[in-house]
Amino acid sequence: MNKTIITDIDGTVLDLAAKFEPWMEARGFAKAVLHDQYGWEHHYGITEKMLDGLLREFMATEDFCRLPPIAHAELVFPALLRHDYTFVAVTAVPDNYVTKLLRRRNLFEALGQPFDFIHHVGFRGDKSDVLHEYPRSVWVEDHRENALAGVRARHHTFLLDRPYNQGPAEDVTRVKDWIEIAVALGIAL
Ligand SMILES: [Mg+2]
Repeated sequence: MNKTIITDIDGTVLDLAAKFEPWMEARGFAKAVLHDQYGWEHHYGITEKMLDGLLREFMATEDFCRLPPIAHAELVFPALLRHDYTFVAVTAVPDNYVTKLLRRRNLFEALGQPFDFIHHVGFRGDKSDVLHEYPRSVWVEDHRENALAGVRARHHTFLLDRPYNQGPAEDVTRVKDWIEIAVALGIAL
């Protein structure tokens, strides 16, 4: 296996909920509590179409540029870089210039510049084609279906365990956090 780590961003590297949920609350949507289904539309009791409109709006705001890193990423990413791992992002944000610029700036400001390349697959886009472009690598996700797409592309797949991604995930390694990924890869922190 080569030393490329391909990773999702939202909920995996950056904490989208930390900024999106307060943004929604400021617009009168219910305060977020632990949700066990993937997709905020279930949580807020709105249609997927309505949520998509709100997410697209949010993803063009300055708040979207200030998503904090997910737990332990600031510790684990430098350690992986020191061990010659490289990072590739596959992110499904809206395919427009402003959002892509905000995403890039956010990643740079939150984590330095770990990513060799950022693949934008479009809003709710399919990641399978990008995953198949790479030889067997590490693939990290917080979305169960996308994790399984990584397995089908023969990647060593980690799924960050969340209430909303429970269910069968054959050949996927469930982990609590990035520290467990580093340990599984034999990296001492
Ligand atoms: Mg995600």
